[in-house]
Amino acid sequence: MQRRGLVIGNWKMNGTLLFTQELACAVRDGVLERIGQQRLSCDLVLCPPFTGLSVARHALSEAPVGLGGQNMSDAVSGPYTGEISGAMLRDVGCSHVLLGHSERRTLFGEENAGIARKMAAAFQEGLQPVICLGETLQERTAERTLEVIRTQWMALVPAILAAAEPHPPWILAYEPVWAIGTGRHATPDQIQEVHGFIRQQLSDHLGATVASRVQILYGGSVTPANAAAIFAQQDVDGGLIGGASLAAATFLAIADAYPKHVSIEE
Ligand code: PEP
Repeated sequence: MQRRGLVIGNWKMNGTLLFTQELACAVRDGVLERIGQQRLSCDLVLCPPFTGLSVARHALSEAPVGLGGQNMSDAVSGPYTGEISGAMLRDVGCSHVLLGHSERRTLFGEENAGIARKMAAAFQEGLQPVICLGETLQERTAERTLEVIRTQWMALVPAILAAAEPHPPWILAYEPVWAIGTGRHATPDQIQEVHGFIRQQLSDHLGATVASRVQILYGGSVTPANAAAIFAQQDVDGGLIGGASLAAATFLAIADAYPKHVSIEE
């Protein structure tokens, strides 16, 4: 079967409303131009900060670009000062939500069990969760990468199995912590090794059909210069882009690097 390519921009905590308006409009214009020239080979999603979601939604309204939150609460509503619910993300026009980003894990103490709860809450709100998995440099040096990925993945399995069908598709993003924002990306071979391992885990726990459908993105210092080699890997279905998504030209150049015709045998 054929998995569609997906490139997501994670703007993190950057951007005034004016910046958001200008960047989202520039992405919209670039997307519409590419569609007109029949050269857009993957789907795109933008994840601005919460405050920019509404502005971005309006700026993108004429273009098929998805909108995502960078995080959400596992609670539906109530006394959770400072939190944003999945329903709120839906209300503002989001289709996706990033969960378990390494900055959430390391700076804000998020753990596997809580991330799985958020995944379940995202399903209930009809949002597509994009769950980030990845090892630290210390863990890679100690040759514990696959063990760490497996632990992070296994924490999600009960939430996936318990989710009432039909639920929105979910997406995994392999993001080695040591590659995020450092300018040091994992090599294509390192990336394919982990993505292939994740695909095998998907197959072992959820069956071959599910495994062949789930998109697995790579994130960590992706640029227009390295994107093509990364996207050429068999089990890479696109990218989660941080720094390089803060300029329309580089974000769109990364999307342009996605292979035009990807056919994956069932
Ligand atoms: C990220 O924050 O998800 C990310 C991949 O960042 P960067 O592209 O800047 O490494």
